[in-house]
Amino acid sequence: MTLQEFTAAVLITRGALADTDGSGLHVVAPPELAARLGLHEYQHLVFEPEANPVITGRPEALRVDYDSPLVEALGGLLDPRSRLAFVEAPLPPLKPIDPLRELERGVTVRNGVMRLRECASVTTTYLCFVLEYEALADERRAGLLELWINPDARSVAEWPGLLETATPRDYLLVSDLGPRLQTASMLARRVAGVMARHDLNDLLESLDRRRARDVRRLREYFDGIYQEIGRKAKRATQPEARASEMRRLDATRDAYLGRVADVIERYRVQARIWPVMVVGCLVSAYQLRVELLRRRTKSDVTFAWNARDRAIDARCCDGCARPIHAADLCDDRAHWLCPACLAPCPECGRPYCGACHQRCPRPHR
Ligand SMILES: [Zn+2]
Ligand SMILES: [Zn+2]
Ligand SMILES: [Zn+2]
Repeated sequence: MTLQEFTAAVLITRGALADTDGSGLHVVAPPELAARLGLHEYQHLVFEPEANPVITGRPEALRVDYDSPLVEALGGLLDPRSRLAFVEAPLPPLKPIDPLRELERGVTVRNGVMRLRECASVTTTYLCFVLEYEALADERRAGLLELWINPDARSVAEWPGLLETATPRDYLLVSDLGPRLQTASMLARRVAGVMARHDLNDLLESLDRRRARDVRRLREYFDGIYQEIGRKAKRATQPEARASEMRRLDATRDAYLGRVADVIERYRVQARIWPVMVVGCLVSAYQLRVELLRRRTKSDVTFAWNARDRAIDARCCDGCARPIHAADLCDDRAHWLCPACLAPCPECGRPYCGACHQRCPRPHR
């Protein structure tokens, strides 16, 4: 276990989200945990001694090595708690299914072909993340999200109310969960972002509408004044009177810009999401191994069929993690993609895969 893996495991079991990428760990910690560890609620932990100075110079970046105070603070949290609580949830027993039929019923590939390779009944791990989100604008909005994530299938189940009926069972050592915990944590963070934005959609739209209305009113008001002064300036025969009207014009324009900036500030949204808890649950499910074929490429993916929904879970888009049942595949690697992650580039109009590329790979003039 590397220092980075250790850090991720401790943080995740204490309710933080830790997302690994090539440059370290992106951590979102609940406020009390962040305070105990002396971290900001969002922090980018960098473990590489040779890390890029551009990254380590950012305010959210924190270098970590074995001598860091953070590592000592993590040790203080540890005791027997590098374990994750598991619950038992009342789920119906698995009945036999026709896997081909279930695949056709529950999954759509719009521009390719699926081939079922194997279907096995398994006991699989779901990790339940409860996250809270908050948006502050001219009003405050908050909510809770409960996501049941199957890291093996990279899928999300929505089982509202299940956690309340679950009973505590055992603890599992984090080391036995391996990379599942990190995959699930990364998916939870991204899926929660997508869902919170969806829940807040009416708020965001109403803010846009009100901002546009206020800016329009300001413009009408200041236009009137501006034109009035402009007319006076034209009529003015004395150079001094004219210069004075010109100064008033400038002052009016500055006042207008200042008021517009105030309006934009007033409707700015500050949103954040933080994890409240994570527990595991062992679930009997079917695991379907499927080949996704697109022209000459293919990818192997796993789908999960769960007995509560009697259906295949929504699988997270390989680009943005949005859970979807219908996908397009990319030409190069047959990634599983939502429409937004295979959308046309705004500059050249040709679609590109959001999982293969962060931005359009074609040269633009
Ligand atoms: Zn996507
Ligand atoms: Zn392009
Ligand atoms: Zn791709």
